[in-house]
Amino acid sequence: MNPYLVERLRPFGTTIFAEMSALAVETGAINLGQGFPDTDGPEVVKQAAIDAIDAGHNQYPPGIGIPELRRAIRAHQQRFYGLDFDADTEILVTAGATEAIAAALLALCGPGDEVVTFEPYYDSYAACIAMSGATRRVVTLRAPDYSFDPDELRAAVTPQTKLILLNTPHNPTGKVFSRAELTTIAELAQERDLLVVTDEVYEHLVYEGEHVPMATLPGMRERTVTIGSGGKTFSFTGWKVGWVCASPALVTAVKTTKQFLTYVSSGPFQYAIAVGLELPDAYFTGFRAEMLDKRDRLCAGLADAGFDVLRPQGTYFATVDIRSFGETNGLAFCRSLPHRCGVVAVPSVVFYDDVAAGAPLVRFACCKRTEVLDEACTRLKGLAK
Ligand code: PMP
Ligand code: GLN
Repeated sequence: MNPYLVERLRPFGTTIFAEMSALAVETGAINLGQGFPDTDGPEVVKQAAIDAIDAGHNQYPPGIGIPELRRAIRAHQQRFYGLDFDADTEILVTAGATEAIAAALLALCGPGDEVVTFEPYYDSYAACIAMSGATRRVVTLRAPDYSFDPDELRAAVTPQTKLILLNTPHNPTGKVFSRAELTTIAELAQERDLLVVTDEVYEHLVYEGEHVPMATLPGMRERTVTIGSGGKTFSFTGWKVGWVCASPALVTAVKTTKQFLTYVSSGPFQYAIAVGLELPDAYFTGFRAEMLDKRDRLCAGLADAGFDVLRPQGTYFATVDIRSFGETNGLAFCRSLPHRCGVVAVPSVVFYDDVAAGAPLVRFACCKRTEVLDEACTRLKGLAK
């Protein structure tokens, strides 16, 4: 334990993504752990970043983001969901969704408050709730279908609850919350006067069902903070361009914290993501189709290697249950996997408070070239022998 680290952050060591990516580099294994594509996104978007640098857009952009990007975010929300956000008062550009999540939680909750979220949860949620001084309460999404018990959700809400932190499509499970499930959450939020912070970074990666933005549900536009990111949709995860869409008062609150975290970031990349968001529908459907093919390929390969596959409805990820291999400890399994067969995956248990629920689950990323996915599956097949 690091004696310098403040107590509330002591449960948080190195993120699993850093640990597993380092293990991949060290062992030369195929990295199906951290979710990043191994190819670049659209050439026109990349060129727009180069052009922006050449054009001298290299100093601090405006605190709320460049107008071109805010207008593009607005048009994107209108085109895909019919949501109308004012580009000057209801949209804030952030350093990836990661900063949007941090800034929202630091702005909207503090000591004495409670945040309800679903587990497994993306790792930064627990850390940012802890940084804010609030307490997390989790409702478990139970494999294999990752549904939740509405009574459990209702019971998790107390008089101290400030907000519900949601993620759909969901990392790590690949679950796409149904309209009925989202309506249950929305009705509870209204009944108990809660805010909803919703992380929708995988909005364009839905293979089954539909992406329903929380802000589109009746009564939710005014109490929802929607978070998006260009990293996933355009396959440029290193650019870190994210955004927040919400009512003017909520955006102002988030902006107040955001301006003291990074102030601004990603100047020239903001121009490029604006170009990306304005690409025709064909780009978005093509991207989804490409990822759907990768999902199917990975799921088939994992099943062929002898795993019980929990087929994702969306996202970059597929989960397996390693009990079909006679193993129960996903963390130990992932730490040994690169040495056993040259593949890196992520143990889902790190995303759970309920260790028993997550222990046998392991997450593989499908956002890699098909030959890389095929080679990884061939190696995994050797494992059973
Ligand atoms: N939320 C979820 C659910 C994620 O999976 C990720 C990482 N891909 C992020 C937020 C962070 O997004 P960004 O890279 O834009 O900070
Ligand atoms: N979101 C990516 C994943 O889940 C990782 C991002 C990170 O390294 N924090 O794999």
